[in-house]
Order: sequence, then C-alpha cells, then structure tokens
Amino acid sequence: MRPVFLDRDGVISIFTPDDYVKNWDEFKFIPAAFAGLRKLTENGFDIVIVSNQAGVGRGLFSSEDLQSITQNMLARLKKCGIDIYRVYYCTHRKEDNCACRKPKTGMIEQFISENGEFERERTFFVGDADIDIETGIKSGMRTILVLSGKTKSIDEIHSWNFRPEFVAEDIEKAAEIIIRESKRGTHGKKDPRDCVE
Ligand SMILES: [Mg+2]
Ligand SMILES: [Zn+2]
Repeated sequence: MRPVFLDRDGVISIFTPDDYVKNWDEFKFIPAAFAGLRKLTENGFDIVIVSNQAGVGRGLFSSEDLQSITQNMLARLKKCGIDIYRVYYCTHRKEDNCACRKPKTGMIEQFISENGEFERERTFFVGDADIDIETGIKSGMRTILVLSGKTKSIDEIHSWNFRPEFVAEDIEKAAEIIIRESKRGTHGKKDPRDCVE
C-alpha cells in the first residue's frame, strides 16, 4: 500500500471561507485537481481523503447530503481515470472534543486500523491549512501545504507551530513533488491535461 493523504476543501474542491459545501451543486473542483489526482493514480498511489465536515454536526447539512457529495465526486473522478482509495470524514463540532477532528490524528489511526500500517516517513499529507500540516506531522508523515485554499501566502506559515516541508501552488504541483520524492518513474501514458472540467 502506497497511501497519500489529502484534505478535500481547498485541495480538491474550492474552499469557501465561512461556509460549508452543503450539497453537490456547491461542490466545485479546483481545476488542477484532475491533473494532480491523475498523476498520483497513474503513479500507483492510494489516494486517501481526510476531511473535517463539522457542518454535519452543526445541522447545516446531513450525513446523507455528505454521502451524496462523496458519491458524485468519486463518480466524476472515476470518469477521468482517477481512483480514490478511501474517504474519511470527521463530522463533529470542535466543542464535541472528538478524537478525529484535525489537527487530531484519529482519522489516520482509523485508516491504519482498517487498512494496516504504512511507511509513514515516506508518506505525504497534503492540505491547505495549518491543521492539515499539524495532523501530518503528528502522524509521522511528510507534509505539503498547497496555496489553493485557506492559506493564500507562504508568509502565513511563519507564525505556525507546525510548518510544512514543502509549499506548492496546488495539488498538481504537490503531486509532482510527491512523485519526485518517491523516486519512482512515471508510467502514465496519457497527458493528465487531457482531463479537465
Ligand atoms: Mg482544507
Ligand atoms: Zn470527529
């Protein structure tokens, strides 16, 4: 198993400040997601999405709504030859003090209990926020911050307690870093740019 852990909003889908993606109509792919996820798929990575969705716990949308968003997202990506290995959500509110809400590592531990241990020091966690980087580092992984969501500038990371190993413009650039760092040759035949929204 060769997992790569990705946050969803701000990495795969467009981040909406002060709001949640409550239904499929509100879910918009970041254009670079198709090329980035294709590169990871074609290089043999098992893509795992790890996302906080407290809007469920707040009653702003239901777990059925979230499931519907996920099914639509997976179907759309599948059409582009992209396989998502697993999807994990924390649907609790911050005040629920659960074990799974990032920056806690509960979703990673759940993944391991269900899928087995992996080489953490060779595995990447990619996110657009400080809590993603903290989750990755606390889980013993390498980290990449993408500037396609909540964090707009590299200047913001100076005040963070947990700082990323790499900063990339978007998930496509992050995928290139992951592939390069993993020192594996590419064996994809199609240009990932063939598949865009
Ligand atoms: Mg995010
Ligand atoms: Zn939780």
